[in-house]
Amino acid sequence: MSRLRILRLLVLLLTAFVYSLWHGNFRFKKIIIHCTDSEHGNRDLINMWHQHRGWVEIGYNFVILNGHPLPGVQRPWENGRIEKGRTLLKDGAHARGDNRDSIGISLIGKRNFTEEQIKMIRRFVIDLMYRYNISIDSVFGHYEMQSGILQKKTCPNIDMHWFRDELRREMGQTYGKPI
Ligand SMILES: [Zn+2]
Repeated sequence: MSRLRILRLLVLLLTAFVYSLWHGNFRFKKIIIHCTDSEHGNRDLINMWHQHRGWVEIGYNFVILNGHPLPGVQRPWENGRIEKGRTLLKDGAHARGDNRDSIGISLIGKRNFTEEQIKMIRRFVIDLMYRYNISIDSVFGHYEMQSGILQKKTCPNIDMHWFRDELRREMGQTYGKPI
């Protein structure tokens, strides 16, 4: 192998390494919670809605189901289930100005979420916080972000002070020490 080839290979490996570190550990600084403002839905349906807006695909990274995928359709076994939306390897499309460094999770529902959904989002957010080293104070509702304020959003229609207190309580219980 010529020296140039070896050099090229090294540069490639280094780039891949830095890229994976960035995506794996350093990229995400906050978690933003949304709701779909619809009584029903799932990943595939939101994907369609977002494509109708002209986006390539669903803008949220994760969706938490409520057991009503379509009007009149009940799937109680899906209540509280997480579906994967847009891969974390790409920028999300859920909070303009904050998409690059945040993970977007959406609850299906308008304002009355199921107990299973709340339980699941609490646990899931805590897992993501540990995985990406994100603190409780960097867990936001869409309405707290610049884009949400500008658009006068109330999304996700959950009092985030209450939610962060819930996280603190749960982390205290589960792990012994809140961060
Ligand atoms: Zn939102």
